[in-house]
Amino acid sequence: SIVVTGATGLLGRLVIERLLATVPAESVAAVVRDKEKAAPLAARGVELRVADYDRPETLADVFRADDRVLLISANEVGRRIPQHTAVIDAAKAAGVAQLAYTGILGGPDADFQLAAEHKVTEQLILDSGLPHTFLRNGWYTENYTANLAPVLEHGAVVANAGEGRVAAATRADYADAAAAVLTGDGHLGAAYELSGDVAWSLAEYAAVVAEATGKEITYRNVPASVHQEILTGAGVPEPFAAILVDVDEAIARGALAGTSGDLARLIGRPTTPLADTVAAAVAAA
Ligand code: NDP
Repeated sequence: SIVVTGATGLLGRLVIERLLATVPAESVAAVVRDKEKAAPLAARGVELRVADYDRPETLADVFRADDRVLLISANEVGRRIPQHTAVIDAAKAAGVAQLAYTGILGGPDADFQLAAEHKVTEQLILDSGLPHTFLRNGWYTENYTANLAPVLEHGAVVANAGEGRVAAATRADYADAAAAVLTGDGHLGAAYELSGDVAWSLAEYAAVVAEATGKEITYRNVPASVHQEILTGAGVPEPFAAILVDVDEAIARGALAGTSGDLARLIGRPTTPLADTVAAAVAAA
């Protein structure tokens, strides 16, 4: 089977959609911790395999020897090494045919806090000796477009990313790439640097939002400490605010600007243009 972890998450659901458009539903399985949340997947004919990364014993029989597995990185920063270790150990014990992993753009060279657990996970996978594929995802365009409300309210995109550029792509773009490596051949041992075709600055992002809304929107670059205060003031927990501020500093250094073209090549089409994602978010707002 083709097995997707995190299948009830935002990215995982899109991977399953793309797989169902490509292969028969009976060859697709979803590793989920919440069967009720996964009911829509079961209704589509996807096999559910229930497991929780925090309880390694539940992972003991979720993988089979011929499975092609996508490990979608977990979402609790700071807990991901034991969680991913449990999944890798289970995949190794089953002797799966492929373990694909959603890491971060730059792989071992990514030098920001959020990348640390991804780097360790890639090394754990290398150490496991399993046939693997690294999907090093860049930033999601939705990290910005899902947060339009404060931008529209204040007429400003606030960040500490300076003139740095972001080669973002949509979750759907990254999901299509994951489905491609799970259904196609020639991806074992490969590490893909996945990112949008175009790297844009936050000033350019502000201009695209202004164009889409007819409002005056500017980019306000602020010092890291000020951005940190704004985020915590808006209710973002302090440790996560610190991680976001650290990412902005990485963006300022160009760490998320790479445009290798790997994503467009894997999905066989250009990545989704920023203006399209902004237009959809504005229409939904
Ligand atoms: P989501 O938070 O929507 O999905 C995370 C998935 O992981 C969910 O399905 C969740 O299950 C599952 N999960 C979390 N903990 C466990 C556990 N203990 N046991 C079993 N399953 C678990 O994130 P996205 O889909 O948007 O993104 C996927 C991943 O990409 C994130 O988890 C994160 O690592 C990374 N990311 C990357 C970003 C980028 O810009 N490149 C931005 C944000 C995240 P459940 O559905 O039950 O909650």
